[in-house]
Amino acid sequence: MRIIKKSKEINSLFNSFKKTGFVPTMGSLHKGHEYLIKKSVKENNVTFVSIFVNPKQFNNKMDLKKYPKNLKEDVKICRKCKVNYLFLPSFKEVYSWKVQSKKKTPKIKNIMEHKYRKGHFKGVIKVIEKLSNIIPASKMYLGEKDFQQIKVITDYFNINKVKTKIVKCKTVRDKNGLALSSRNKLLKKENLKKAVNIVNFIKKIKLKNIHSNLKINIIRNYLKKNDVKFDYVQNINLKQFNISKNRTINTRIFFAFYLGTVRLIDNL
Ligand code: AMP
Repeated sequence: MRIIKKSKEINSLFNSFKKTGFVPTMGSLHKGHEYLIKKSVKENNVTFVSIFVNPKQFNNKMDLKKYPKNLKEDVKICRKCKVNYLFLPSFKEVYSWKVQSKKKTPKIKNIMEHKYRKGHFKGVIKVIEKLSNIIPASKMYLGEKDFQQIKVITDYFNINKVKTKIVKCKTVRDKNGLALSSRNKLLKKENLKKAVNIVNFIKKIKLKNIHSNLKINIIRNYLKKNDVKFDYVQNINLKQFNISKNRTINTRIFFAFYLGTVRLIDNL
């Protein structure tokens, strides 16, 4: 595995490969990231992983400051997974990169993360504009835990005719049901337990044969009763990507809640 810090250097590799996979991350890697990486290694000749904590997508300064870092372990994981190139750029390396043509910004529905994390997707689009241009891989691997992010990046690629194909990957969970997340490492023990209970409660309610509005109300009441602050609990139609009041199969319950100062998101 080669570690590269310069955008120019990694970009210049792109004449020589056929099938290339790219997994952009913010580091503090876990089995969820590993799943994406292994999938890319299996499906491509060459795999690129980037680790870059993008300050522009953090709407909360404390969240950025506290974001977990574990570079030594991350390098080991990438080596173990047979990554070919690990890109570790500085802020300057990413943001001084010149993208040739002017890019359009997709319209984002004002729901969920876009509504509650002001400026978050603007920051995501900025970094994806740079990274997808620095590493113009055949495929980019993204996790469904951040479902709305996949939607935004897909729309951005479509309207700008970016050739990279997006590969949606399932959410990897701990045995206890909790979606793996770098932010889980910040949870106090009692809050980790609480998070597990919340996810399993939502899973149970989701399976009930009742109207989706009722499910959402039951979940919101459970969170209120347990003094858990939340931004949203919503039933979303995955095709139209809007709030759905119907009991169709093509919907998922999306939620964002806080335990202490840690904010977790998931969809079931
Ligand atoms: P992050 O480092 O949190 O920015 O995540 C990098 C990529 O890994 C994103 O595409 C995430 O959606 C994905 N990811 C994060 N957690 C998981 C998980 N538990 N299962 C699958 N993919 C994940």
